[in-house]
Amino acid sequence: MAFEVPPLPYDYAALEPHIDEATMKLHHDKHHQAYVTNLNAAIDKHPELGSKSVEDLIQHLSTLPEDIRGAVRNNGGGHVNHSMFWQIMKPKGGGDPSGDIAAQIKADFGDFESFKKLFNETTAKQFGSGWGWLVFKAGKLAIVTTANQDSPISDGLYPILGNDVWEHAYYLKYNNRRPDYLAAWWNTVNWDEINKRFAHAKSGK
Ligand code: MN
Repeated sequence: MAFEVPPLPYDYAALEPHIDEATMKLHHDKHHQAYVTNLNAAIDKHPELGSKSVEDLIQHLSTLPEDIRGAVRNNGGGHVNHSMFWQIMKPKGGGDPSGDIAAQIKADFGDFESFKKLFNETTAKQFGSGWGWLVFKAGKLAIVTTANQDSPISDGLYPILGNDVWEHAYYLKYNNRRPDYLAAWWNTVNWDEINKRFAHAKSGK
């Protein structure tokens, strides 16, 4: 069974005005699809890997055949990162965090505004293409960035949330103003989904 792009769980225009319809169409239908197509092409060369989950593949990159390791790192990462990304956003999202993640943000960053500021500043500084992430490490929340499509999963860390700062994620609407995109993105976040991911991260599975 080949990997597939999961359907977007809302309309392409549903995150307007924060993320525009044209960006969502290209991002989901073209960029995510390209990662999946290229991942499948890599796995086709080693059909014995076809039964593994994409998370399993990128968590154990060093065990993969050398001829496809780079392709799985980039395209498997692209697949798992974007599959998360669509889920952690929703129409009429945003607002203050709820549930366990709200309490943990307060404990580890003081308050939500301080957390957002630190996340946005850290992620704005990621040079070139990459992602900003919230992970749970040694009993605390931590903000990290990765280059390209590298996933915290490859470092044994489960991403609670992540924002895509490749130019394809924002350039049509925000041009070179990455900080404006980062600030607006919080209006799309789906705290219910983020709480589910936080519970998973805490479980250590
Ligand atoms: Mn992207």
